[in-house]
Amino acid sequence: MLIANATLITWDTPNQILENHALYLEGDRIADLGPSSELQTKYPQAETLDARGQYVMPGNICAHTHFYGAFARGMAIPGDPPKDFPEILERLWWKLDKALSLDDVRYSALVCLIDAIKHGATTLIDHHASPNAIEGSLDVIAEAVKQAGLRACLCYEVTDRDGPERAKAGIEENLRFLKSQISNPQSQIAGAFGLHASLTLSDATLEACRAAHDARNYGFHIHAAEHEADQYDSLKKSGMRVIDRLNKFGVLGPRSIVAHAVHIDPREAELLRETGTWVTHQPRSNMNNAVGAADVEGLLRMGVKVGLGNDGFSNAMWDEWKTAYLHHKAARRDPRRMSGTTVAEIAVTNNAALAGVFFPQAPIGVLAPGAFADIIFVDYHPTTPMTVDNLPWHILFGFENSMVTTTICAGKVLMKDRQLLFLDEAEITARSREMAKNAWGRFAA
Ligand SMILES: [Zn+2]
Repeated sequence: MLIANATLITWDTPNQILENHALYLEGDRIADLGPSSELQTKYPQAETLDARGQYVMPGNICAHTHFYGAFARGMAIPGDPPKDFPEILERLWWKLDKALSLDDVRYSALVCLIDAIKHGATTLIDHHASPNAIEGSLDVIAEAVKQAGLRACLCYEVTDRDGPERAKAGIEENLRFLKSQISNPQSQIAGAFGLHASLTLSDATLEACRAAHDARNYGFHIHAAEHEADQYDSLKKSGMRVIDRLNKFGVLGPRSIVAHAVHIDPREAELLRETGTWVTHQPRSNMNNAVGAADVEGLLRMGVKVGLGNDGFSNAMWDEWKTAYLHHKAARRDPRRMSGTTVAEIAVTNNAALAGVFFPQAPIGVLAPGAFADIIFVDYHPTTPMTVDNLPWHILFGFENSMVTTTICAGKVLMKDRQLLFLDEAEITARSREMAKNAWGRFAA
């Protein structure tokens, strides 16, 4: 397929904006890139998708999300509003996840995946929990991802909060899924070993997780130091701070993701850097839970790899960009903090490198020959000059996620001119509303 008459934003190194260009796709890869007229002559038989001058760029990547949180939208929590993050966990998330059946898990994923296609997120790294429907839950999500045509890395959050049997079942679900990926590798599905957070994991369970698999092959994906409570708990349990404790149990490493890292000290940051562990930043979630502001710029200056996730907020990743841009200025009372270039560094460059850990078959997040054909069209008409230098600020102040008109993943067109080609949004959301209503009933019971 030939994507012609495009203004390409390559996000390559160096980034380029190329007018009147084209991409030739073969299978799930970009096979050629060049001036539109040249490629149209070179591939005269190719089916052509006319971009009509729109911006054509790599699909967005989300480094940490929770499909299972979809049914929380609009849900009332009985009683007084939770006063802090531990209360939010206990009174919202740890009750909602228990209310989910496998069918709820499927529809939670599907509605998030529709949202991702509509808003141009083509790769998602998910962190799943459904304590009353553990076994097979990752297969159900993988089926939804395949149905949607997107790319996702999946894991199950092991935790002790629901008792030893469910902790064991969580370990087994991760292992079962990771083994199925070895026997049947797929270029659009990958796995990690999920852990909830230090504060819900005993030493025995962490040891069992370490013993269960080789983290050099499959890294861990865990929340860490999202709130001070995680540190207090870790110090009480082990006399160690959270990142030190995770390091002791082999959780850190270049394939592992630590989400949040809001409340870490300099030695913990050093440990993250030394081990090459990925940190993901979710500013919308951090603001919503009032947990504070991670020192993202400090971590980057130290050489820690930081990516951008959404923690289950909408898959409109440019909203996460905008929040990151504003959050650090407000938190530090300094308008120089978190420049557009830094936001692009974490959201584009670092997220692409992180996605490459799980999908190493081809470059991801760039428009270049040989890269995965994960591509979006953006109907944006800049009112001021737009260059590679000021592009992040055009995205921050001009781009809207609804400007995404066409979404392609692995060479397959999933949305064309804002029409979803494979998923019936009306049917899926009608079913999801019914299922959410029932889940809310179980939540309140
Ligand atoms: Zn999370």
